[in-house]
Amino acid sequence: MKISSDVDKDKFLIRLSMNKDGMINPEISVLSKLRYPSFKKLFDLDDETALFRLEELEGAGLLKRVLWRTALACPSCRNLVLCVVLSCPSCGSTQVEVTNVVSCPVCKYRGGFEEFRSGRVFRCPRCGEHLSKKDIIREYKCENCNSLFSTPEKVYYCPVCKKTFSEASLEEKPIFSYRIADARLGEHISRRLKSVLNDVGGYVDVPGIVIGRSGVRHVFTGVVHSADEIALAVEVLMSDVYVGADHVLRSLIKVLDVSPKRFILIAIPRISPEARKILETNKVELIESSDLEEAVNGLELLVRKKS
Ligand SMILES: [Zn+2]
Ligand SMILES: [Zn+2]
Ligand SMILES: [Zn+2]
Repeated sequence: MKISSDVDKDKFLIRLSMNKDGMINPEISVLSKLRYPSFKKLFDLDDETALFRLEELEGAGLLKRVLWRTALACPSCRNLVLCVVLSCPSCGSTQVEVTNVVSCPVCKYRGGFEEFRSGRVFRCPRCGEHLSKKDIIREYKCENCNSLFSTPEKVYYCPVCKKTFSEASLEEKPIFSYRIADARLGEHISRRLKSVLNDVGGYVDVPGIVIGRSGVRHVFTGVVHSADEIALAVEVLMSDVYVGADHVLRSLIKVLDVSPKRFILIAIPRISPEARKILETNKVELIESSDLEEAVNGLELLVRKKS
């Protein structure tokens, strides 16, 4: 599993597990851009960075793409919002006018709608037959070559590059939804974590949301609330190679603000020497493991040993 270090995997997994259906669905904005509003909001990203990040997470194996729709895009600029325009089947002009023509079912007289209307009455000017709406036929007239036709062609106008394209020349663009690559991993681990924390005794919250003394809302991987304090806070930090000092310090700031009775930090796959020094100086209990499941087993032992 490889991912750029600025992606906080822990935050990602926790937040995604908070998302009910676990799906990140796209939407096409009126500005013709493809965006993923729920993902963008979760990660506080702009539309373009969100697209980039989704591809990055997919490349890292954390997300899986699922085909959402295949859309027709402008072959020139890839814009997804195209205007469907009528065109003349004879000359290709897009100056096509729609007219209502009436055909009398009795005497077969054909003429423009206005010819059949006298005041409020709608009847044939030749035979006098009273007609109804169903006798009106929609007809198309080309302003360019004057031809009349009943089935116009459709072409697609791109409002971005201001060009018109035939349907055959449009680009087929698959659009994807994303879901967590192994949804059960997140669920399974959080269930295991919950059961281990239950042994501590108290109210278990995974992910654990705690309001610090400062009034700031903090999220830990899991917490155990007891009476009026936090009996235990557990933080899982993940990285490519090393969980670094910055990452660890961010957790310690939360600990400082929340003051749990006990704090255990799980580092996956290992911790940097600098971060280790910080933890040792601050007497933080540490579990280092290359595997999340193994780390939870380690947590179980650690929790039992002291309780
Ligand atoms: Zn275009
Ligand atoms: Zn024409
Ligand atoms: Zn008639």
